[in-house]
Amino acid sequence: MITVLKFGGTSVGSAEAIARSAKIIANGEGGRVAVVSAMSGVTNHLIQFLETDGASADDALSILIKKHTDAAAALLDGKLLKEFTKEFNERVDRLRELLNSGNAGDAYFRDNISSQGERFSSLLLSYVLMSMGRESIALTSEEAGIYATGPPGLGTADLQRTSAGLMMNVRPLIMRNVIPVITGFYGRDGDGRPITFGRGGSDYSAAVVANGLDADCLEIWTDVDGFMSADPRIVPGAIMIDEMNFGEAAELAYLGAKVLHPRTIEPVRTKHIPLKVRNSFKPEHQGTLIHHLRSPKNEMLRSVAMKADLSIITVSSAEIAYRPKMVAGIIDKIADAGVIVYAISTSLSTVALLIHNLDVKETLRHLNLLDPADIERIDVKSNMALICAVGDDLLRKCGVSAEIFGAVRDAGANVELISEGASDVSLNFVVPTDKAISVVRSLHTKFVGE
Ligand code: ADP
Ligand code: ASP
Ligand code: MG
Repeated sequence: MITVLKFGGTSVGSAEAIARSAKIIANGEGGRVAVVSAMSGVTNHLIQFLETDGASADDALSILIKKHTDAAAALLDGKLLKEFTKEFNERVDRLRELLNSGNAGDAYFRDNISSQGERFSSLLLSYVLMSMGRESIALTSEEAGIYATGPPGLGTADLQRTSAGLMMNVRPLIMRNVIPVITGFYGRDGDGRPITFGRGGSDYSAAVVANGLDADCLEIWTDVDGFMSADPRIVPGAIMIDEMNFGEAAELAYLGAKVLHPRTIEPVRTKHIPLKVRNSFKPEHQGTLIHHLRSPKNEMLRSVAMKADLSIITVSSAEIAYRPKMVAGIIDKIADAGVIVYAISTSLSTVALLIHNLDVKETLRHLNLLDPADIERIDVKSNMALICAVGDDLLRKCGVSAEIFGAVRDAGANVELISEGASDVSLNFVVPTDKAISVVRSLHTKFVGE
């Protein structure tokens, strides 16, 4: 039996949190593999270094050094503290050199720097496991064999190559009862360069490791009790969900439920590996089990998520609906721009697309390459938010949409675009960003509770 356990930034954010997380790893049964995020705040700090002209490497390193050395001093002593300090200082020296060597305009350099925090947290957690009498080794993604493709900042794991790498580099350690502690957030590309999986990407790393090792279970240990009926920071009365299926969790994660990186589900879903979301601060709680079965419950609304900072681009042209090549041309241009389309809606003479605010400029540049004789107008409505409502009866029961939109009306919001029926578990619609939180709260109050 192999369990992959992922610990997020707050779960390794202080000496107390690391001790708690290490106990969770050490106390379980069977083969254990940990995947870790950087200590909380560290990745932001590294990114801030990249974004500040003339930033000093020593300033950038100061918070990283203090956080790790304070925690190490509280958790380790004697020979282990000495050995940790030696390895830690070597890594700090290498990072200092790296910070002084590159160009923040280079996307590969940016990924290299922003992924560095994980190399330090994994080292520390591994030493803390050793201090608890367990054999452990810290592995970077390169050492473990996590391969990635795709543009920097938006990498995708090469599952086949990664599986071969993990089977060779990690599985033998597990068989010898050693606990590997692997860096989350990034993989290496064919040239050995770090490619990150996007912010929050350590969840995806852990799912990729579970997939590659054919693990029996993936546990995502975080700072909330499990997957909840809404983001508890927006809806303080949000309740924990005991069970959900992969499809429901994937939709919610894709459309804003930050508790899981949007790409976490696929690598475990394809291998039927159950995923648990658990609270590292309350290990006695069971958390949420996400698996391939539909929940036996029949809640009208199980969970609601929101994704802000989106824009609706509307392309107008006479009788577009009768000109399929024209629609194909628009979609083609969007694909050339390489942007994600979160929803799409058509009418006789318009195609409306929902994309991220940051992608508007590039999308317009590509759409403007269309034949001007074909296009009447292109309009942009910015600062929109997509609301994703997931529940069993959403699309099966007559009148449910009316009730949902009743709650939207109660929040005083106008619905700008609707995507219903595309997924069999969710109803997605767009409202202005400044109304999104009230809509989420209104839906939650009406269908789940205060
Ligand atoms: P980690 O550092 O452990 O990866 P994150 O901050 O990335 O943790 O994700 C956990 C956070 O996700 C929670 O603190 C919570 O505010 C937020 N969140 C958003 N939507 C949900 C939801 N539906 N259920 C639980 N947490 C959610
Ligand atoms: N440390 C990375 C981030 O802050 C990855 C992660 O935490 O999952 O985005
Ligand atoms: Mg996260």
